[in-house]
Amino acid sequence: LEAQLQQAQKMESVGRLAGGVAHDFNNLLTVILGYAQMGIAELGAAHPLQTKLEEIRKAAQKSADLTQQLLAFARKQTIAPKVLNLNGAVENTLKMLRRLIGEDIDLAWKPADNLWQVKFDPSQIDQILANLCVNARDAIADVGKITIETGNRIFDQEYCAAHMGFLPGEYVLLAVSDDGCGMDKETMAHVFEPFFTTKGIGRGTGLGLATVYGIVRQNNGFITSYSELGQGTTFRIYLPRYEGAGVPVPVEGSAQPLSGG
Ligand code: ADP
Ligand code: MG
Repeated sequence: LEAQLQQAQKMESVGRLAGGVAHDFNNLLTVILGYAQMGIAELGAAHPLQTKLEEIRKAAQKSADLTQQLLAFARKQTIAPKVLNLNGAVENTLKMLRRLIGEDIDLAWKPADNLWQVKFDPSQIDQILANLCVNARDAIADVGKITIETGNRIFDQEYCAAHMGFLPGEYVLLAVSDDGCGMDKETMAHVFEPFFTTKGIGRGTGLGLATVYGIVRQNNGFITSYSELGQGTTFRIYLPRYEGAGVPVPVEGSAQPLSGG
């Protein structure tokens, strides 16, 4: 419990810090971008400094994009949950996801029949799927396959006793699997931490899964990761079933990212 509380506090303080820094940084970058653009325009296309200025402009633009991501992460986004069928929400994003992962990767979609409803902000579904699919794409070296699945799941007392952090109840499953490089135990232990990345400076922000984790917990859901080195990875998200007004949702519990399952 101590560790879970620490993780939550860390997320909170890192988020606030990142937000503050990102805001100031963004203002400075606007100045750099602005002067670089002015220089480019004033010197004319033939000037020998043109390519150098263009490099400055590109780097500033990249940094601005990164701070935007930081701001989105830190901001307490106001959400607009709607009662929805997750299958429909996933189908609405499939086109965007296909574009995101490129043509060499196969995207398989396996919707469950008679899926229970959830109450969720559809744009948060987009965010979850985009982050998980980009990670899956990055884990696939060349050609490969990503599978998105849904399902109805019931967790009883017995199940929850065996899976620390879960609360009994009815859940809608959203799973994203890939046949990419997989993760070792050490990586698995840190994936949900903000700024944890194995992708190197400039390639990964380490905010993708921290964002997904935040969204899932904000909605009283759970997330698990399962991975085999060299085989692939599956992230499973369980969102509480929505059964209409007046039905109690699971109490805000102490939950942490779980391994396995
Ligand atoms: P980023 O993608 O910017 O590195 P994330 O929070 O999205 O940050 O992911 C954190 C780390 O988790 C990644 O750097 C990678 O090591 C690992 N990871 C996430 N998803 C997968 C996956 N599907 N397969 C293998 N490793 C993954
Ligand atoms: Mg990522």
